[in-house]
Amino acid sequence: MPYTYDPQNIFARILRGEIPNRTILDSAHTLAFHDINPAAPVHVLVIPKGPYVTYDDFSANASAEELVDFHRTLAKVCEMVGVVPGQGYRAITNAGEHGMQEVPHFHMHVLGGKLMGPLVQR
Ligand code: AMP
Repeated sequence: MPYTYDPQNIFARILRGEIPNRTILDSAHTLAFHDINPAAPVHVLVIPKGPYVTYDDFSANASAEELVDFHRTLAKVCEMVGVVPGQGYRAITNAGEHGMQEVPHFHMHVLGGKLMGPLVQR
């Protein structure tokens, strides 16, 4: 098990209802909400409710039900915020130090509403 989950991280606290959030969709295993500091007109975070640190942790260790629920919720959210059908979006996830992950609870950013520019600096 390469990861230790910190139950005091801010998204764990959101999931426990200790911190408010602007929810878009709340499903059995997944929560989608607006990023508090949006980097684009659309900036949504989609997170599993289970204690997974990174995308690879989630992909390796979540149940099939959680995996399907996460991805189906992400797809529904893309429609709800108007990027699908529409002008598209960028879905990104940061992991660990080199990924510059700030919150150690796996989350997918869905960004859109403007041209997002190059993927990374070269
Ligand atoms: P990352 O760098 O990929 O870990 O991204 C963490 C994201 O969480 C950033 O875009 C923050 O703006 C966002 N964030 C931090 N605290 C909150 C919060 N309380 N509610 C919503 N988004 C948050």
